[in-house]
Amino acid sequence: RADTALYAAKLSGRGRCRLDDLDSAELAHDLAQALSAGQVRAWFQPVVRPTTGEVVGVEALARWRHPERGCVRPDEFIAVAETTGLIGELGAAVLADACRGAVELARVHGDGLLLTVNVSGRELVSEGYAERALALVRASGWPVERLVVEVTESLLDASSGPALETLHRLRAAGARVAIDDFGTGYSAFSRLDTLPADYLKLDHGFTAQITTSDRRAGVLQALLSLSRALGMQVIAEGVEDEEQDALLGALGCPLAQGYLYARPAPVAELLARPAPAGTRAG
Ligand code: C2E
Ligand code: MG
Ligand code: MG
Ligand code: MG
Repeated sequence: RADTALYAAKLSGRGRCRLDDLDSAELAHDLAQALSAGQVRAWFQPVVRPTTGEVVGVEALARWRHPERGCVRPDEFIAVAETTGLIGELGAAVLADACRGAVELARVHGDGLLLTVNVSGRELVSEGYAERALALVRASGWPVERLVVEVTESLLDASSGPALETLHRLRAAGARVAIDDFGTGYSAFSRLDTLPADYLKLDHGFTAQITTSDRRAGVLQALLSLSRALGMQVIAEGVEDEEQDALLGALGCPLAQGYLYARPAPVAELLARPAPAGTRAG
């Protein structure tokens, strides 16, 4: 796998060698090894109903326990995986682990539990992605109907035919689609009705402002009513305080996630301390 590391260095360094180029080459090399060794796992963050805290789902988030660097955040290694072609292997490893974990978590949280998984643009447009992902989910015993695939809105502009095609295939098989990080970039309200999506995940940056700006709260209110009309459910991400939780409840936002309710954790930790409905993580 040394050539993938070199490739990463070349891609990011354009011929020159800077410290962070070496760093990403080393990361790429280590990531390939970590994937073979099963060191990239899915952690889970509960998706809850605002104000009651009832758990209705879990989002799988990739975690890499690096022997020297400790727990490497996905923001660091997803990009490396994409530039080195490791993203397919990584996505499959996380999806399989996520399904295994969700099967266990459903024993505590019930058969209605949803599993949401992040999928990168590179994976989504790769030939045969939908079929590979569906086969993997079926083999795990997790019901495809309770899988939600999270993609970012920027993938779904007019020029992303292959991405849209993949989403249509996934939905035809019964899986659902969430638009992640909604409210960060382009977020065209006028296009919402054309997106093949079942959930809209409101970015933290947006959630952070709903209690500090009446205008933001107004936009959220409009978004909630628009999404209801389109048959989509809003999930507010990054809920960190009681005031945000109360406002989401008052405005009728169906779902939320954030440190207020629970931080991402490995499945064993969630099973050891299952949060009953109506309680909050401290
Ligand atoms: P995301 O999909 O938007 O996931 C939510 C991120 O917000 C997670 O960061 C989560 O730990 C963090 N978070 C949760 N609650 C709060 C809160 O109350 N406040 C704040 N400030 N943050 C909160 P994480 O786990 O570091 O993941 C970062 C991004 O990496 C994710 O953003 C996702 O886009 C990507 N990612 C994670 N796992 C995967 C994966 O398996 N595949 C792919 N392609 N991307 C992944
Ligand atoms: Mg996400
Ligand atoms: Mg995401
Ligand atoms: Mg997000």
